[in-house]
Amino acid sequence: MYDWIVIGGGIHGCTIASFLLKSGKVRAEKLRIIDPYDEPMYSWKKKTEIIGMEFLRSPSVHHIDVDPFSLQKYAYKENLGKRHFYGIYKRPSLQLFNEHSESIIKEVDLQRSWHKGFVISIEKEQEYWKVSTEKGEILIAKNIVLSISINNQLNIPDWAHQLRADLPNRVSHIFEENLVHLSSLIPPVGVIGGGITAAHLTVKLSSLFPGKVFLIKRHPFRICDFDSDPGWLGPKNLKFYHKN
Ligand SMILES: Cc1cc2nc3c(=O)[nH]c(=O)nc-3n(C[C@H](O)[C@H](O)[C@H](O)COP(=O)(O)OP(=O)(O)OC[C@H]3O[C@@H](n4cnc5c(N)ncnc54)[C@H](O)[C@@H]3O)c2cc1C
Repeated sequence: MYDWIVIGGGIHGCTIASFLLKSGKVRAEKLRIIDPYDEPMYSWKKKTEIIGMEFLRSPSVHHIDVDPFSLQKYAYKENLGKRHFYGIYKRPSLQLFNEHSESIIKEVDLQRSWHKGFVISIEKEQEYWKVSTEKGEILIAKNIVLSISINNQLNIPDWAHQLRADLPNRVSHIFEENLVHLSSLIPPVGVIGGGITAAHLTVKLSSLFPGKVFLIKRHPFRICDFDSDPGWLGPKNLKFYHKN
């Protein structure tokens, strides 16, 4: 029986696992992280790489380590200059963020607790949890963390289903598993979406097909510093929230 099973080895899963290990709340052999990929944060790396995102959308204090300034200290130790931080909130470069994550993953030896698999059910059995995977494995644990996100649940509108059926390989969701290589697209290319992913993608595609990319959105650009108020990820808002 494991003490903890973390379901989903993305950013949240790795953050929780590294916290549990570093704070001595669990030993590596008593922890399992279940995720369908071979390595931690695979899905994150793939999605951010494909759209050509250079800098994170979140400030430098948000990363997978325990100490909020861990990433900044890492950059200093590795002699990585200011060019790896953007703006007043010091948003880190994707390269720096990923390298720092790798260093934490190595430091706590996350691979030792890694279990490749896709969870299909969780059942409560008296004092413990029974977790079943697609391959028919059963893992038992005292505590469960669910960190599967919604990133794998693609939002494909009804009208796009018909288009995809009529024009296979010509209409795709940018985050679908078997996406064709972007450089093999036949221009002109249309990007539909009004958020930051659409903007990143349009910039990347425009460098591949100059003047042959257009962005379709239903509202003017909405410019904000972050995806969501980062105050909710730290003491700024949470201190007050926990008091009430
Ligand atoms: C292009 C892009 C850029 C982004 N940039 C930022 C940013 O700069 N800053 C920021 O804070 N946020 C950013 N986000 C949001 C970002 O996705 C989240 O912050 C982060 O990835 C969430 O981490 P997570 O672990 O919850 O999800 P994910 O990173 O998606 O990880 C979830 C993991 O759970 C696995 N999983 C799913 N279902 C199961 C199952 N049943 N069994 C086992 N494993 C399962 C998935 O395969 C995946 O590996 C960005 C998102 C995108 C798409």
